[in-house]
Amino acid sequence: MSKATRTDTQSPAPRVADSHDLIRVHGARVNNLKDVSVELPKRRLTVFTGVSGSGKSSLVFDTIAAESQRLINETYSAFVQGFMATPARPEVDVLEGLTTAIIVDQQRMGANPRSTVGTATDANAMLRILFSRLGQPHIGPPSAFAFNVPSVRASGAITVERGAKKAVKATYTRTGGMCIRCEGRGTVSDIDLTQLYDDSKSIAEGAFTIPGWKSDSFWTVRLYAESGFLDPDKPIREYTEKEMHDFLHREPSKVKVEGVNLTYEGLIPKIQKSFLAKDKEALQPHIRAFVERAVTFTTCPECDGTRLGEAARSSKIKGISIADACAMQISDLADWVRGLDEPSPGASSGRHSTVAPLLAALRQILDSFVEIGLGYLSLDRPSGTLSGGEAQRVKMIRHLGSALTDVTYVFDEPTIGLHPHDIQRMNDLLLRLRDKGNTVLVVEHKPEVIAIADHIVDLGPGAGTEGGTVCFEGTVEGLRAGGTLTGRHLDDRAALKETVRKPADWLEIRGATANNLRNVDVDIPLGVLCVVTGVAGSGKSSLVHGSIPADAGVVAVDQSPIRGSRRSSPATYTGLLDPIRKAFAKANGVKPALFSANSEGACPTCNGAGVVYTDLAMMADVASTCEECEGKRFQASVLEYRLGGRDISEVLAMPVAEAEEFFGAGEARTPAAQRILARLIDVGLGYLTLGQPLTTLSGGERQRLKLATLPQPSAGGTPRAEKGGVYVLDEPTTGLHLADVRQLLGLLDRLVDSGKSVIVIEHHQAVMAHADWIIDLGPGAGHDGGRIVFEGTPADLVAARSTLTGEHLAAYIGC
Ligand code: ADP
Ligand code: ADP
Ligand code: ZN
Ligand code: ZN
Repeated sequence: MSKATRTDTQSPAPRVADSHDLIRVHGARVNNLKDVSVELPKRRLTVFTGVSGSGKSSLVFDTIAAESQRLINETYSAFVQGFMATPARPEVDVLEGLTTAIIVDQQRMGANPRSTVGTATDANAMLRILFSRLGQPHIGPPSAFAFNVPSVRASGAITVERGAKKAVKATYTRTGGMCIRCEGRGTVSDIDLTQLYDDSKSIAEGAFTIPGWKSDSFWTVRLYAESGFLDPDKPIREYTEKEMHDFLHREPSKVKVEGVNLTYEGLIPKIQKSFLAKDKEALQPHIRAFVERAVTFTTCPECDGTRLGEAARSSKIKGISIADACAMQISDLADWVRGLDEPSPGASSGRHSTVAPLLAALRQILDSFVEIGLGYLSLDRPSGTLSGGEAQRVKMIRHLGSALTDVTYVFDEPTIGLHPHDIQRMNDLLLRLRDKGNTVLVVEHKPEVIAIADHIVDLGPGAGTEGGTVCFEGTVEGLRAGGTLTGRHLDDRAALKETVRKPADWLEIRGATANNLRNVDVDIPLGVLCVVTGVAGSGKSSLVHGSIPADAGVVAVDQSPIRGSRRSSPATYTGLLDPIRKAFAKANGVKPALFSANSEGACPTCNGAGVVYTDLAMMADVASTCEECEGKRFQASVLEYRLGGRDISEVLAMPVAEAEEFFGAGEARTPAAQRILARLIDVGLGYLTLGQPLTTLSGGERQRLKLATLPQPSAGGTPRAEKGGVYVLDEPTTGLHLADVRQLLGLLDRLVDSGKSVIVIEHHQAVMAHADWIIDLGPGAGHDGGRIVFEGTPADLVAARSTLTGEHLAAYIGC
């Protein structure tokens, strides 16, 4: 939420005739906006441009869309509103001509592990009705095909397990399709033992590889070594069956170590309690990385990952079960559903006629997927595995068929994840939404999208406090001629490099078959900048994330959400808070824990979140600023302590760039903090405030944050020998202004020059042109992709012009 203060509710001024076709924003001051006023033409396509942190989202999402949603909330009855926290009105003087705003952003689609592409759209609901009508044998109502509805056991006893207790009454009369073993998740979790110890060593030789488990630590290593249940001098792989059982699984048992009574328990329950049960984001970065490595998920053996019980899988239409249908590539499923049109001889004509409208609706939704370039997905794909761009396009599906008009659609970089070849199709969709009579607002950096705008609002000139003003408003021609940073860079063209680096070594991948890969053999060059290209769904991620051997020391730096509490911020995530807390504690002679918003010093009302959330079952959560601490997160007494004249909440409110100076000299000088801050500046995040909730960061910002927490390159190491020597990035230009792409390329060059290997999945042609080596996948998406269509230098790719990527890159560099 914005830092807006609550002002008296002001109803929009009455419309006057000439303002009728405009959305007027006057005096917007959310986040860094400095009294911004703009007039946006309705039923037109407006693109918002400007460097990262200039205030685009503050204007579009936190002001315009937020106010529209607040006004909609106000239309609920007083009774319903009684359950809702009133979100603060965005800090803006006048906002008029608003229509209902629908936000189509890249936020992950719910953290629910049971959410799939099919459940997030209406496709699964339609398929369930279809199978309940036409499936043989007939097994019951649509819910019998629902993996989210628990099933009644044959004995009649209801099976509702952990966490779902509240559902008991509601589901008692229903028969669901949920697989009992995995509770409809399709996977079961496991601990990867190889991450816990090296079984070729004995405990005495230091077999444990768990962070913090040093050979002399009393509660951990010595407890195992001296428990008497196992031989500390025997390599773990030589343990007897009994030793192994005691080592991994033994129930809590009393033991005496050096005269002290301790409780011994098996390694697995011990790890579960001491690491896995904790709030992951509260962990230090290296421990968090350990937890991410150590927990693995495997396909549920009972349902084979389909999430469905046996009965639901037994009912079929033309030999296909609902699980089979959901596993098909959507473009194939669309064809199959089209085939269901013919009257099936067995079905009674009455029953058949009732499914015709359903089939038509199902067909329409499946065709929308194909049209939007997502035909390569399957309905059973967990929503959480979608990239930000894919999630955004899945959300778009709901709106394409909608009959609503005069809606304001708000998009956040809709071209993310799209090959230059696919951008045209996205542009067509945006224009189609507009031509149905809707207002379309788009935050975008790509020149191809800026080019189709009816109206452009360019924010800047810089980021954070240096931004927040409108630098230009008008047409594309005007922008180009206008001399703003965006205008100047609009026609930027990167040239191919004169010389490319020579690979130091190669990483051989043989017979890769992850997802759609067709037995791919490819050599990935090490010690260079290697760019992986191809249309969305061609198999780039499957190759890079799914096929590189685990022992290659690959570190993935992606845009995936950083899970954790609402108190997580750049300061907690990067470990920056530790030196800051210590510096505060030292300066004031008190405990460091006081200065942490998730422990002792926290405001008791909001528990250190700064906002109070109201959980609305049906709608998104509503947050409002905590009245006790006024959003400062700390107890008043903690704010008495100062460092360099600032209290902890003031320090957490500083932008990174300002904090870097603050901790650089004077009383507050803290080199450990300054080092981390300098790295954040390096990745272009100097405008973020230290305490900004991670939930407010975009995918691109998250990725750059992760980039900043990578182990520092140590010069001269050989790429393969050094663990973590291969960095894999996924569209690092996401959210970056054209003007900042060069800075990113500089950062990647520095990584490579320090001896690292950098593999980048990218669609940005400036990055392709800058590559030492390109691996191009295709030719199409899903089962039409999965092959290597080119590998070599960018110059050779352009010269051959044998692939879509080659054609586009050639056109881009102007040859
Ligand atoms: P853009 O969308 O152009 O990248 P934003 O509108 O996200 O820029 O950010 C503009 C400024 O406001 C930045 O300095 C950013 O750090 C700050 N900001 C954005 N969201 C929040 C928030 N929820 N809390 C505090 N500061 C924020
Ligand atoms: P790209 O990275 O080129 O966009 P992907 O590697 O993500 O392509 O996808 C290639 C194919 O593999 C697609 O058909 C996609 O649906 C499938 N796929 C990718 N990830 C998964 C996954 N986690 N589960 C199932 N299928 C997947
Ligand atoms: Zn299962
Ligand atoms: Zn509070």
